[in-house]
Amino acid sequence: MDDRLLPWHSAYWQHWLQYMQQKRLPQALLISGKAGLGKRHLALHCAAALLCGKPDPAGHACGQCRDCRLFAAGTHPDLLSVTQQQDKTGISVDQIRRLIAQANLKPQFEGYRIIIVEPADALTANAANAFLKYLEEPTERTLVLLLTATPGKLPATLISRCQKLSLVLPDPRIACAWLKTQQPELDDPTVKKAVHLAQGAPLQALEYAVNGVLAIYDRCFQDWLQLANQRTHAVLVAEQWQKWPDQPILSWLAAWLIDLLKCCYQANPQQLSNPCLYKSLVDLSRRPLNRQKLYTLYDLVLESIGREHSPINKQLMLEVLLLQWMQLNSFSRKTHA
Ligand SMILES: [Zn+2]
Repeated sequence: MDDRLLPWHSAYWQHWLQYMQQKRLPQALLISGKAGLGKRHLALHCAAALLCGKPDPAGHACGQCRDCRLFAAGTHPDLLSVTQQQDKTGISVDQIRRLIAQANLKPQFEGYRIIIVEPADALTANAANAFLKYLEEPTERTLVLLLTATPGKLPATLISRCQKLSLVLPDPRIACAWLKTQQPELDDPTVKKAVHLAQGAPLQALEYAVNGVLAIYDRCFQDWLQLANQRTHAVLVAEQWQKWPDQPILSWLAAWLIDLLKCCYQANPQQLSNPCLYKSLVDLSRRPLNRQKLYTLYDLVLESIGREHSPINKQLMLEVLLLQWMQLNSFSRKTHA
């Protein structure tokens, strides 16, 4: 993926250009939107344009000048960023203090200085406070870009200091067309499936397409159907699914169940979050499924998602969910007894 503006960012870019043209750049800009919409990509595109010595007529960074070369190398001295360290639970107050100390020095070059905080919702309470104080008396010619998928987790006081740019999901056709340009070898149904699976977020769809997630998703769905047909066992499937701890399998499960319920109420494919599974789900919905039990299982899956990151026995958790699913689908004796 190159650093060109992403097609669904055009409107946000126009917004940014207005700031630039009217010379009223905010001190802080909060860029929010779900994962996979390219918040960081947009922030860097804007930052590069602001630091570039000779932007092109459309306002984009030229890619050639001293600033652009430093930027591309990741060594531009006036681009500061802070992020959550891997082994830490949040962005600490010490990280923010160091950042502010740097921000209080004069910019290395004569242009702007840019501070990127990502993910801004990872700021600890103390870090957010320290940052808020900085925003109350910011250094001149400094632009702060705060990036978050969950702006609701930020203190309202911090949000009130920011201009807001909220990224929304692009039209699925735009997402599909873009994914196709990135992975021309993918056929159309696969492209559509990747975009659906990523719930419309294009960068997430790209990741799913290139790192084998689509194949895992298909396999899990087949396992789930096999369970419904009593052709495999919950323990075996749970064991297999445990081999993919990084995949959001429980979220898939929740989505299949809710889509199945929708099919029980004659939904059309567009109303499903997995329209590519429509046919299989309609077949399932024709069974004499107990809807109340389906809702109960759905609730249990949601509850399990909430506990997924706690130290619980995940094998057991999956077994319970899958066993209930099998029981829901075992009609021969039980339901008519
Ligand atoms: Zn340049």
